[in-house]
Amino acid sequence: MLRWSINLFKVFGIQLELHASFALLLAYAAYEGWKDGAGPGLIWNLLLIVLFFGCVVLHELGHSLTARRYGVQVPRILLLPIGGMAQLDRIPRKPSAELLITIAGPAVNFVLVAILLPTTLRVFFGRGHVPEYSMSSLFAQLGVANLLMGTFNLLPVFPMDGGRIFRAMLSTQTTYLRATYWASLIGKILAVIFALLAAFVFNRPLTSVLFIFIYWAGDMEYRYVLRQEEESRYYDEMARRAREALRADPNEPPVPPLLA
Ligand code: ZN
Repeated sequence: MLRWSINLFKVFGIQLELHASFALLLAYAAYEGWKDGAGPGLIWNLLLIVLFFGCVVLHELGHSLTARRYGVQVPRILLLPIGGMAQLDRIPRKPSAELLITIAGPAVNFVLVAILLPTTLRVFFGRGHVPEYSMSSLFAQLGVANLLMGTFNLLPVFPMDGGRIFRAMLSTQTTYLRATYWASLIGKILAVIFALLAAFVFNRPLTSVLFIFIYWAGDMEYRYVLRQEEESRYYDEMARRAREALRADPNEPPVPPLLA
């Protein structure tokens, strides 16, 4: 099978994978850097991308390491140009568990914002001149990037972190399936609104593509939960009929098999 990702290395036993399309992002960043500031611009831009995705990995590790505390296996973290994805073998249905696993990601970003805050404030609001391609301006950019990453992920668009938090809160009031239904429905409506805003108001076509992807991912996840729910209802019914059959009079005709 053709694989579209390459294995980098393992962190805390979790395989880090890089999607092949990353090469395009690096080439684009290098080109933009070269255009703006020749050699130093190119190196600075590439460093920014590498450090930014280092922060994405830390965000995903926040989710992954918290998930492990609930016995969830995390075989890999995939890095795509649009962000990271930790592959959890299951998502706990206990609302408090889903809530903590989800919050841990953006929480990492806000801790990084706090660490980078002095440099960020000095670069953007200080009196002295900070050279464009310096480490200080690199860290200041990372500070802003982490603030955006943390905030963006908290938008209540399921299955983004904010949407998962919303689902976890809803599922304390109703069934898991209904909570997922409402979270994904509201997420889809918001995804369309944000995609239109990104495309026509903020002139960010790539961001609107990202929201289309999120719309699709939310729909997929709702269907997955629905299928799981139907399967478990089917097996419960089978088990109930089997119990009944065992209790029944051996002279009576057997219970007809269930039609799925
Ligand atoms: Zn996240």
